[in-house]
Amino acid sequence: MTMMRFLILAGLVAMCLSPNPRAQIVDQRVAKAEALYADFNDATAAIGTIESGYAKAFADKSLEQWKQVEKRSRRELNAQLNALPTKGLSASDQRAVKLMRAAVSGGATTGSKTLHCSDAHRVSLRYDGLRGALYACFEEVGNNLQVDGKKVTRAEALGKLESLEDPARRKAVFMAMSPLYEAINGKDKAGSPYRRLIKLAAEHNAAKRTSELASAAGTVGAAPEQVERWLVEILETWRQVSADQQIEPWDYRYLAGAASRQLDKVISREALQSINARYYRDVGVDLVQLGVIYDLDPRPGKSPVAYTDFARRGRELNGQWQPTIARVLANYSSGGLGNLNEYIHENGHAVQISAIHTRPAFMDWGDTVFVEAFADVPSWNTFDVAWQQKYLGRAASERDNLRALYSGVMLDVAWSLFEIRMLHDPAQVPNQVWTEITSHYLHIVPHPELSWWAVRGQLVDAPGYMVNYGLGAVITAELRARVREEVGTFATGNERWYPWLSEKLLRSGAERETSELLREFLGHPVSPGPLLENIRGLATTTARDGARRFDGTGSWRGQ
Ligand SMILES: [Zn+2]
Repeated sequence: MTMMRFLILAGLVAMCLSPNPRAQIVDQRVAKAEALYADFNDATAAIGTIESGYAKAFADKSLEQWKQVEKRSRRELNAQLNALPTKGLSASDQRAVKLMRAAVSGGATTGSKTLHCSDAHRVSLRYDGLRGALYACFEEVGNNLQVDGKKVTRAEALGKLESLEDPARRKAVFMAMSPLYEAINGKDKAGSPYRRLIKLAAEHNAAKRTSELASAAGTVGAAPEQVERWLVEILETWRQVSADQQIEPWDYRYLAGAASRQLDKVISREALQSINARYYRDVGVDLVQLGVIYDLDPRPGKSPVAYTDFARRGRELNGQWQPTIARVLANYSSGGLGNLNEYIHENGHAVQISAIHTRPAFMDWGDTVFVEAFADVPSWNTFDVAWQQKYLGRAASERDNLRALYSGVMLDVAWSLFEIRMLHDPAQVPNQVWTEITSHYLHIVPHPELSWWAVRGQLVDAPGYMVNYGLGAVITAELRARVREEVGTFATGNERWYPWLSEKLLRSGAERETSELLREFLGHPVSPGPLLENIRGLATTTARDGARRFDGTGSWRGQ
């Protein structure tokens, strides 16, 4: 996801010249393996770029040629790794070998058969196949919904739930998403595609003795049960500070959408890129110099979910640092606050990987939950009044902004808890589990007849993944507090932001365990305190603005 052609910043360049002694390669046989590993990474990143549909070739090689490079470098790397001594390596070299072994152990990335949404009914499908088939539903069904006789994508439908003033029309859009709900979870009966998937996911986790929850908990140095308790605590805090009346599920996004409704019209499709570039420049990042590749226009067959990846990993070549190139993929036919927030999040990934400057074995992301949390450090500012004033020329109220931001966070936390509970006991009925969480904590009227939770591709692509967003919010709040403490506020620009973060947090890539890095950066163990405090801020602003109640007709009325 990040790529860069020239220099980053004078400060960074100076920094890059003094390699971290902890990450120096000691053993020449390890150095040879790492050169092969860098070739292998060049190939996999180029293959990913070409297979995304962005281009037919990358860096003067076709897909076929890159696949040859991948095959050869993987074979030679495996041979080199097998020939390495098991004793006598430095700690850094040992870690490098461990990470390289793990990276090439997955087998070739090519050759998986394309499955369709309709394949999800085949009970013979195993875990990976069922995941692939259900993910295809998001493109085939989710992006071909019908509202008033017109084709609408999932993202557009969710946008309409935020913007349509008439509750009856919102309900119609919500119901128009039923084909997606049913493609994923049928009629919620035992044997539905999702219920088979979550059972296979639990079996997969048990066999591999791992889970997204365990990994995410490891990153923050807490036990999985502790993380689950935090998620409940976050939802409970929200339950207390948000209105206590029950609302329909098609009204939830509308209530969260007051800020968007005021600001969407001043954020055109073209403005997404100019606002993003200006904001990052103000915090010390020149995205043009970083050479980030942008693939933003919708096209058939493109990934329905936005993501960022390496198009090329930085490496030393002929004594010169060849910088990372990041690639951002999304589907934008319009602008608006939601898309702008997502776009700034994706660029957060791009700047993270662009800052990594270390030996090949460590040119990597770090733990997923940290990665998602970091991308939100810059993107949460899209809900800041001063930020909006500067970059959009107008701003929503603090209350509407907090509601927008934390309504989204709460859904992520609710999905996290939903997945944790489903994976804990896959025999449960998904709609019941979801209804319990959302009616109690989010004040949403029960609709156990609808699988309306099934609107996130991650739920089927990588069951259990949502904890990376739910718990990620805890880390984001911690990181933002730490950055403000050290370099000051960055909502309206702060040139120290990127150089300081690059040096203290990003540059080292995977040199160390993310949990260690995070703890040292924060100076204390991760806790939900800062996030809970932020959420409680909603109660203060609500009190200040005067209590208002949602009257169900689509507008807020003061009491
Ligand atoms: Zn992300």
